[in-house]
Amino acid sequence: MADEVAKAQQSQPGGDTIFGKIIRGEIPTDFLHQDEKCVAFKDIAPQAPVHFLVVPKKPITSVMTAEDNDVELLGHLLLVAKKVAADQNLTNGYRVCINNGQDGAQSVHHLHIHVLGGRQMQWPPG
Ligand code: AMP
Repeated sequence: MADEVAKAQQSQPGGDTIFGKIIRGEIPTDFLHQDEKCVAFKDIAPQAPVHFLVVPKKPITSVMTAEDNDVELLGHLLLVAKKVAADQNLTNGYRVCINNGQDGAQSVHHLHIHVLGGRQMQWPPG
């Protein structure tokens, strides 16, 4: 079993996460993007030549717990993903992915968008 899947199976939603600490500046992080609604930064364990995360400042646990009034925020996250992907020169395409809950192999229970690029992605995913 992949490490990330094992982590996802052990992790539980609820409480503060490492991303909360990053957003609050408690962990020094080089941000690729920051605005009043979200931040973007490189994944610490990249799975592609370019791999960054877009994370809302609002601590939504996952897409499964997002609410109707998050509609604008969720759209904003995708547009920031697009902007940062362009900044990272991902001109030939990239993958946008959100892991949700245990079966989705989510290990950090603060909603985040993965953007992976710089190599040919495969399908289907594992
Ligand atoms: P997920 O499995 O979708 O919950 O993804 C969580 C991601 O967060 C993984 O790809 C981790 O490598 C990444 N991650 C965990 N801690 C950090 C950190 N301190 N800085 C950047 N990325 C992190």
